[in-house]
Amino acid sequence: MKPLSDRVNSFTDSVIRRMTRISDACGAINLSQGFPDFDPPRELMDALAKAAYAGPHQYSVTYGAPNLREALAQKHSRIVGRPIDPESQVLVTCGGTEAMMAVMMSICNPGDKVLVFSPFYENYGADAILSGAQPIYIPLVPPDYGFDLALIEQGFQQGAKAIIICNPSNPCGKVFTREELLAIGALAEKYDAYIVTDEVYEYLVYEPHIHTCMASLPGMFERTVTCNSLSKTYSITGWRLGYVIGPDEVVEMAKKVHDFLTVGAPAPLQEAAVIGLHFDDSYYERLRALYTDKRAYFLRGLDRIGLKHNVPQGTYFVLIDIRDFLDLPRFRGWTDLEFCEWMAREIGVAAVPGSSFFKEDVNNLIRLHFAREQATMDEALRRLAKLCALLDKGCRAPYNESSTSTRRLP
Ligand code: GLN
Repeated sequence: MKPLSDRVNSFTDSVIRRMTRISDACGAINLSQGFPDFDPPRELMDALAKAAYAGPHQYSVTYGAPNLREALAQKHSRIVGRPIDPESQVLVTCGGTEAMMAVMMSICNPGDKVLVFSPFYENYGADAILSGAQPIYIPLVPPDYGFDLALIEQGFQQGAKAIIICNPSNPCGKVFTREELLAIGALAEKYDAYIVTDEVYEYLVYEPHIHTCMASLPGMFERTVTCNSLSKTYSITGWRLGYVIGPDEVVEMAKKVHDFLTVGAPAPLQEAAVIGLHFDDSYYERLRALYTDKRAYFLRGLDRIGLKHNVPQGTYFVLIDIRDFLDLPRFRGWTDLEFCEWMAREIGVAAVPGSSFFKEDVNNLIRLHFAREQATMDEALRRLAKLCALLDKGCRAPYNESSTSTRRLP
């Protein structure tokens, strides 16, 4: 047979999603692909049940059901402080994933350069290849994941047409400050570049950090394309509802990509999700409080068992430093992927290898998430304590077995 597409052949499947399959196959606790193990708000489930009988069951308007687009336009208009036209500036997609891909395909010609921070959410790699864009990577430097503005300017001087900003940032949990965004925005203006944002974790931001929407900054709406999703905000990752909001010209192009790629997001799910967009502020405060507690609980647990980690400013991800393990004779020479596969099988906790997110040669980090019920986190920590016991020096502090839950896990 003739060879298949070189373009598609040049990237692998998603390691995040692969780790979920591995986790399922070996019955591990899945802390790799980020999604909650708890229910969406009751109102959304009721609305979905109602939609099952009342419909709609046929295609909605290809670029999104009118009531959902209207609700998204109102939401974004409050955030950016200007009216948003639901007809020409809003596109509903199948998840944030399709939103990003549709926007990249709308902006980039083959060979166009695009600035991407490293570490980055792994989808951006495939987005760049499929849209023909060539990434120029800008390092986010640990421990605070700051960046050098001069490198961004150099990237624009090399002709970068756009910059992708994931804010809050997957996987490192960075929340870009208003000042950082203003500085990036000023450069984008100077070099007339687009800004593509991925803001799916906009409400998962921990005090004292606050989320600033790039498109809300002075003069930025005209060049910013905001990609977002309802997945994390309403705990409905399987509903596959995302959206793009931006200037008419870009959204017009993204609509065409979307129209021929997927036709539309599922109509009954769009109908049910609208209710979430009418929740008042107290819902988002409770969501933030929930994840603030989960973060504190999980990080305290990691400290107790002696795993080194970063402290995310936003998102539900945490990066764990596994260098001490890779220095042990039994793991010497292992890649982080091999370590994660072993950990899922032998320890019973699935993580994502950090190398999936870094352009740089990083082999000592793995990503876990804490969008889990407390009992699941307890069991995961109990299992991870066994991992810590492998270190010569043992666990830094004894782990209290009695604090763990008796809930049975697969
Ligand atoms: N953003 C989530 C993660 O990084 C997963 C999203 C997805 O798999 N579509 O784990």
